[in-house]
Amino acid sequence: MRPDILNPLFAEVTALKGVGAGLAKPLDRLGLARVVDVAFHLPSGWIDRIPRDELMAQDAGRTIAITLTVRDIRTSSSPRAPTRVQAADALGNIVSLVYFGRSSGLVRKLYTVGEQVRISGKVEQYGQDLQIIHPEILEEGGGSREREAIYPLSEGLTSRRVGGMVAQAIERAPDLPEWIEPSLLAQRDWPGWKEALARIHADPSDAVARARIAYDEVFANQLALALVRQDTRKRRGRGLRGDGRLRDRLNLPYALTGAQARTIGEIEGDLAQDAPMLRLLQGDVGSGKTLVAALALLIAVEAGAQGALLAPTEILARQHYETLRETLAGLPINIAVLTGRDKGRARESTLMGLADGSIDILIGTHAIFQEAVSYRDLGLVVVDEQHRFGVAERLALSAKGKTTPHLLAMTATPIPRTLVLAQHGEMDQSRLDEMPPGREPVETRVISEERLDEVVNALGRHLAEGKQAYWVCPLVEESEKSDLAAAEDRAATLAARFGDRVGLVHGRMRGPEKDAVMARFAGGELGVLVATTVIEVGVNVPNATLIVIEHADRFGLAQLHQLRGRVGRGGGQSRCLLMRGAALSETSRARLALMRETNDGFRIAEEDLRLRGGGELLGTRQSGEAAFRLATPELLGELLPVAADDARLLIDRDGGLAGPRGQAARVALYLFERDAGVALLRSG
Ligand code: ADP
Ligand code: MG
Repeated sequence: MRPDILNPLFAEVTALKGVGAGLAKPLDRLGLARVVDVAFHLPSGWIDRIPRDELMAQDAGRTIAITLTVRDIRTSSSPRAPTRVQAADALGNIVSLVYFGRSSGLVRKLYTVGEQVRISGKVEQYGQDLQIIHPEILEEGGGSREREAIYPLSEGLTSRRVGGMVAQAIERAPDLPEWIEPSLLAQRDWPGWKEALARIHADPSDAVARARIAYDEVFANQLALALVRQDTRKRRGRGLRGDGRLRDRLNLPYALTGAQARTIGEIEGDLAQDAPMLRLLQGDVGSGKTLVAALALLIAVEAGAQGALLAPTEILARQHYETLRETLAGLPINIAVLTGRDKGRARESTLMGLADGSIDILIGTHAIFQEAVSYRDLGLVVVDEQHRFGVAERLALSAKGKTTPHLLAMTATPIPRTLVLAQHGEMDQSRLDEMPPGREPVETRVISEERLDEVVNALGRHLAEGKQAYWVCPLVEESEKSDLAAAEDRAATLAARFGDRVGLVHGRMRGPEKDAVMARFAGGELGVLVATTVIEVGVNVPNATLIVIEHADRFGLAQLHQLRGRVGRGGGQSRCLLMRGAALSETSRARLALMRETNDGFRIAEEDLRLRGGGELLGTRQSGEAAFRLATPELLGELLPVAADDARLLIDRDGGLAGPRGQAARVALYLFERDAGVALLRSG
C-alpha cells in the first residue's frame, strides 16, 4: 500500500485550484492525470528576464530580454518582405528585429533611431546574423520575474497556467525522509528531493537539482530491480539437465550458427544450476532466436519439466506455435497454445493438460500467467521481446512453479549497453551477433513522399515478379483512430490499382480477424500487406522482400530497424524504401541517413539513444519498469551505475527496506511507481 504521506501527490489533478473539466483534455494529452504528474512535468526552457545589455554567444535559440540601441529601420519595396530594425547591444553586436506583415509605418512608431529600447524575444540564427521575430517591447523597469519557466504544452494551455498548477503541486508535496546514501548526497551537494523539485521549476537550468531528481528516479528503478534480483537469488530453483534424447532427434535443415551454438551452451550451463537462470538474449531480427528458444525448451522437457514461451502479441504467439510445431515435428512431445482468445472447452482442456503434465511446452500471451493457469512442473520460461516484461510479470512468474522457473528473456531490440542495466537490472547476457548464412543486408533508400507514384510503380513491378511487400503507414501521434484512417486510405488507393491482392491489418482489429489477414499474406494469397505498426515484432514471411515505410521520419530508429527486419528473411536481395516528409529537421535527416548506411541494430540503438533520447527504447511505464520521465539519456548514463551501487548497498549493508534508510527508500519506490518490488518483502 502506498504510504499515506504521498496521498496529496497522488490525488487527481482536479484537486488543484482552478483545474476543472475544461482543462481535462489538454492535461490528459500531456499525461498529467495526477498532482504528481504535474510536479514532475519539468520545464523545457525558460525566458530569461534578467536585464542585460550584451548579447551572448549561447543566446541563439533562447528567449531573452535585452536593452538595445536602434541603429536603422529598413523597409523593402516589396510589400511582402519584412521590416527589419537593426539594433545593437552595448558592444555593438547587431541583431535584427523582424516584423512580417506589418506596415513599416507601424514599426517606425515603435522605434526611434538612436534611442534605446528594451525588448524580449527568441533569438534566432539567420545565416551569419542574429534576429528576433516580433519581439515584445518591455516597459522600463517592467517584468517581475527573472526567469520564467517554459513548459511542454498542449493546445489550450499556457506556460503560465502550467506554472500556476506546478506551484500548487509543489506546495502539496510533503517533506520526505532522505533515501540517498549520506556520503553520496554530501559529495554531490544535492538538495532534498522537494527542494530540488522546487528549484528546477524556479530555474530550469539548475543542473544540480535536475541531477538529484533524475537520480531519485533511477535509484527507484534500480532498487526495484535489485529487489527482484535478491528475491530470485533467495528462491530455490532446480537444476535441469537434459540427456539429449529429444535434441538428438531434431532434423534441422541447416547447421547452427556459431553464435547460436555458443548461446545454447551458455543456457545449458545455466539450466544445470539450481539457482534460477536470469539471462537476456539479444539478437537482431532474423538472427535465429526462435531456434535457441526451442532448444532451451527441449532441454527443460528432457529433464522432465515443462517449458513456456511467452509472446507479446496474439499473432506472434500463434506464429511461434506454428513454427515450433513444425521444427519439433516428430518428437514425442506435446505442444499447446493459450491466449486470451481461447475460451470454453479448448481452454479447459489446455488447463488440464498443464496441470497434469501432459502438455510439455506451452506457447502464449500473458494469459499463460493468469491465476487460473497452474502447471505440474514449470521449469523454464522463455520471454520473447523482453521489453514488455516487467517486474510485475517476473513476480507472477515466480509464483507459478514449485521452485522458481529459469528465465530466458529474448529481445530483438538491441539495447544500448547503458540501458541494459536500467531495463533489466543485473542479468547475464548472450548476444547473437552473427546472422544465419546467405543473408544479404537489406538495401535501404530514402525517398521524398512527393514521389509516391514512383514508389507505387516499383511496388507494381515487385508484385509482377511474384514477390510480396509490406506497406507501413504513418504513425500519427494524436490518436490511434487517425493511424487507422491513414492505413485504410492507403489500402484503398493501393487496392484501386492492385485489387484484392491488397490486405490491411491494424491494431484495432480483433484477434481472429487479424490472424486471418496474416494467414492470407503468409500463404501468398495477398501481395501487399498494408499495416500500422502491428507487424513490428517477429512476423516471418520470407517471400516478402520489399517494405515501404511512409513518413519514416516519424518513427524511432529502433522501430524502423525492427520494421525493416520484416524483410531480408528469405535470401535474395530485399529492399526498404523510407518515405520522408518534405520539411525535415537536421536530426531527422541524420537519422534516416544512418538507416541507409547500416544494418547493424546495436549501432542504430546507440545512435537512437543519442539522437532522440531513450523514451521509445525504454518502453512505457505501464508495461515495464524502465520508462524514465525525469532522467534524460545523458543523466541516465552517468547515474545508473551509481544508483545500482547505492541500491545494492542498501540491500546488502543497510538492511534492505527494513532499516531507516530502507523505510525512506520504500517511499521513493511508491513515489516513482516502482513499487511492484515491495510486494516481494511480504511474500518472501
Ligand atoms: P529472430 O531472431 O528474429 O526471432 P528467427 O528465429 O525468426 O529470427 O529466424 C529467422 C529465420 O532464420 C527463420 O526462418 C529461421 O528458420 C532461420 N534460421 C534460424 N537459424 C538458422 C541457421 N542456423 N541457419 C539458417 N537459417 C536459420
Ligand atoms: Mg523472433
